[in-house]
Amino acid sequence: MRRLIVFDFDWSMADQDSDRWIFEVLAPDLRRKMKTLKDNIQWTDLVSQSLREAHARGITREQIEDALRIMPFHPGMVRGIKRLKEEGNTTFLCLSNANNIFITTILETKGLLPAFEEIVTNRAEWESSGLLNLCRRIDPHGPQHDCTVGCSPNMCKGEELDAFLARHAPAYDQIIYVGDGSNDFCPILRLRSQDMVLCRSFRGLQRRIDKDGEKLGLKCQVKYWGGAWEVEEIFNALS
Ligand SMILES: [Mg+2]
Ligand SMILES: [Zn+2]
Repeated sequence: MRRLIVFDFDWSMADQDSDRWIFEVLAPDLRRKMKTLKDNIQWTDLVSQSLREAHARGITREQIEDALRIMPFHPGMVRGIKRLKEEGNTTFLCLSNANNIFITTILETKGLLPAFEEIVTNRAEWESSGLLNLCRRIDPHGPQHDCTVGCSPNMCKGEELDAFLARHAPAYDQIIYVGDGSNDFCPILRLRSQDMVLCRSFRGLQRRIDKDGEKLGLKCQVKYWGGAWEVEEIFNALS
């Protein structure tokens, strides 16, 4: 039995949104500005621009790392992932619209980084000045993805999941996808009847499943959850 568990990061594995959280902690006025501009500027570009503004006003790499380390993350999620990892037949993939620095900084703090086979996300890099330079996964000046399900321009999560599965053949016996956002809808359309989505209740993914799940032929089982302790409970019940 080979099992793959795919995790969205913000509000799925973590109990917060990392892109927003660091500004809530360090520069609430920039957080407000992002809320004002988010319908006009592509989200990854907006986070990148906000990081530049934070850097220009003297917010340091250490401050950003400290903010990430205190971001809400349920201990039940940590336990659930570690236990399944120790059992040995589960591969973990993180598929996220955040960035590699936010995700690895947080996963390292929780002792979860070694559990993940790959982290597929936007690229970010610390410059020696302390600026976190963030870029879309798909370069806006190159060829774009052709997803019609509604993924954001920086990345099609469905295409990325397919590419991961192609890199890790043969097929997994079961795929479990943990997600919350509307951009998690495209990848779950690619799941089979033996697969399962663990959908966080009352957020974009649930709304999208309600609206388009049947129409677009969603085949996997759907289980809803509210708190990470319930994901732990589901993980513990997997044999
Ligand atoms: Mg999310
Ligand atoms: Zn897509």
